[in-house]
Amino acid sequence: MPELLQQLSLMAFEAAFAAAVILALFSARGILGFASIYTTVGVLYYLATLLAGTTFIQVAPGLLMSPGSVALFPASLFAVLLVYIREDAKEARNMIYGLLAANVSASFIGLLIVQHLSGPLSVNPLGLPPELFVQSPRLFIVGTLALYADTILIILAYEAVSRLLKPLLLRIWATLALVLVFDTLLFVTGGFVEHPAYVEILLSGILGKIAAAAIYAVALTLYLPRTRTAADKHPGLGDLFQVLTYRQKFEALLAHAARDPLTGVYNRGFCDEMLHSQIAAARRGDTAVSVMMVDVDHFKRINDNHGHPEGDRALRVIAQTLAGVARASDVVCRYGGEEFCIILPATPLDNAAMLAGRLCDEVPAACAREGIGGGMRVTVTIGLAAYPDDGAASGLLVYVADQRLYRGKNAGRDRFVAA
Ligand code: GH3
Ligand code: MG
Ligand code: MG
Repeated sequence: MPELLQQLSLMAFEAAFAAAVILALFSARGILGFASIYTTVGVLYYLATLLAGTTFIQVAPGLLMSPGSVALFPASLFAVLLVYIREDAKEARNMIYGLLAANVSASFIGLLIVQHLSGPLSVNPLGLPPELFVQSPRLFIVGTLALYADTILIILAYEAVSRLLKPLLLRIWATLALVLVFDTLLFVTGGFVEHPAYVEILLSGILGKIAAAAIYAVALTLYLPRTRTAADKHPGLGDLFQVLTYRQKFEALLAHAARDPLTGVYNRGFCDEMLHSQIAAARRGDTAVSVMMVDVDHFKRINDNHGHPEGDRALRVIAQTLAGVARASDVVCRYGGEEFCIILPATPLDNAAMLAGRLCDEVPAACAREGIGGGMRVTVTIGLAAYPDDGAASGLLVYVADQRLYRGKNAGRDRFVAA
């Protein structure tokens, strides 16, 4: 009995250690990138398959468990799930294809390696059997298909389980257990269905993996709440392929996410894309989006009277003021020269007008505090427009806001015009 306890604790420790290493490498991905996680997972996966075919522990009469399939195999799925939750579907997909490539290439090289083991020139002092490196074609095909199905399934299962179960631990445990049971059913049935011990292999695999899944789930549950990211704000991205396109759109947006180097606020390219996607989101969610065009009044005078560097400093102070007064969800962009555009998601025109009024007060106050232009009063004129009342296309909204901006200029500047 102490022997059994020792063997079981050993397996539990192997699972906990694998989980801890993967989590540690994952937290260091900012420095190390993903390569170190993927390499580690690949090696653990190889060890798992090697042990799964060679090493078993008798945990009860007729019940054999392999530390490979019970303690180590779940590490791969654990890593896929971790990367999916914390990064996205695309990164998880990269790992899935990496695992498949490792599996296929190791199996192929295995076919070649065995030629070294038993030829007339071979020296094989440990007497390694060729079976160690060559899987039956049947086991290879079943194993590869099961791995592919598992890695896809774990993502779909997590999304489905998340809708049913709220507590994180249960969610992760149920997801891992579900996929591991599925894997065992598929692999053991595909590989050993006519084996006399088929039921015992199946049963012990299922029991062992559900227990190991608990260890991995505890590790992930301890880790995740400490590392919340913006991705947590987008729950319910149900379909894997929808998530991929979401990611691709997001990447396209990020590619243009350059900041304006002078002021640090977003640049014109980002502004255009953001306005476009916010209008699309507002259309789906049946909400409003407001746009503000902010132009500095008589800005030329700052340049002319105090030099370009002072004009630049004014632009920085004004941009910081706009960004500081706007809400975190508002997007402040430098649209050109001394003109800024602010996008206000989920904001109707009258709420945007309140913010515009505050900006008209705050910009001169901030410029006065900073002594811009030797203390001259620096004001802005703002034109506003909102989706859907003023138009449904981004170009039209900007045009309407610009028209109102010019009306504000003609009416004497230092004001906002919202209608
Ligand atoms: P108003 O808008 O009130 O009609 O007058 P304005 O003087 O602000 O109008 P205008 O658009 O004619 O002038 C804008 C000036 O902004 C012209 C340009 O030299 C200056 N400008 C544009 N970009 C920069 C910049 O990056 N740095 C500095 N210092 N000046 C800039
Ligand atoms: Mg101006
Ligand atoms: Mg201008």
